[in-house]
Amino acid sequence: MARSNIRQQIQEVDQVVQEYPEYLDLLLLHKSILEILSTTGTLQTRAMKEALSDESVNTLLKRAVESKRPIIIFLDARIFDPDGVLSVAKKVIERLIEGGSEAISELEGLLRALGQDEVDAQKAVDAIIRGDTSWFKHLSEMYKVEPSLMLFIFDVSLRPFFEELARRVEKDIMETWWEPFCPVCGRVSAVARMKQRKRYMVCTYCGVQYLVDLFLCVNCNNKDPTTMGFISFEASPGYELNYCEKCRHYIKVLHEDRLKGKIPQGLEDLLTRELDIIAEGPEFNLKRV
Ligand SMILES: [Zn+2]
Ligand SMILES: [Zn+2]
Repeated sequence: MARSNIRQQIQEVDQVVQEYPEYLDLLLLHKSILEILSTTGTLQTRAMKEALSDESVNTLLKRAVESKRPIIIFLDARIFDPDGVLSVAKKVIERLIEGGSEAISELEGLLRALGQDEVDAQKAVDAIIRGDTSWFKHLSEMYKVEPSLMLFIFDVSLRPFFEELARRVEKDIMETWWEPFCPVCGRVSAVARMKQRKRYMVCTYCGVQYLVDLFLCVNCNNKDPTTMGFISFEASPGYELNYCEKCRHYIKVLHEDRLKGKIPQGLEDLLTRELDIIAEGPEFNLKRV
């Protein structure tokens, strides 16, 4: 099922924090970002609310299903408030600096630039909606902040909107999408949940779950079962790595019926960081999707 709302997600972090002491710092950082999102209600523009009306959601869903393209491309970037995006971005950067990020001086530089209106927030929103990674790459070169972190800083404020969209459409799309990318936001995820021998990708951005073939590489679309690898762990049967021998990319899979602890929606990626270290380490030398 899709993710809970932001307030419930905060409670879910509190519930698991003791179970995963090794991820304490990451969980607390995650929680404080959720707290920023829960207090930025002003971000909800009227146009965003209209886009979430039953009628609009149904139309968006229909267009996505018919074209097999993600809902995000049918959205108008002007429904979002660029000033709101900017103000959340500043708060997130401040929190990252407080948390002792490795890139403190670079983040301070970015924060100063945002304070002096040097970054066009409308362009940031347009780039998010178009899935234009080159714009963020350019920005990350200018301010020497890693591209994925740069994208996170700007797109996190739109996440509650896409999570809501995901909650609304998931039941109609979960079993029938079959594409390697997210039906809501178009991203390709590195995390899946296995339920009754069916593999559901879990979008790490909007949280929607969608069924994919067991023998599909979501990175390169390879469907040849003889070139798929599966790495399991005797001591932790709930976790598995699936990888493709052609492109050497992997995803992390949670076997729901074998998991010992609970992994709430939205924490799948964070609570399996150890698997990334194993997958990317010298033994397997794989790349994250
Ligand atoms: Zn998504
Ligand atoms: Zn592949």
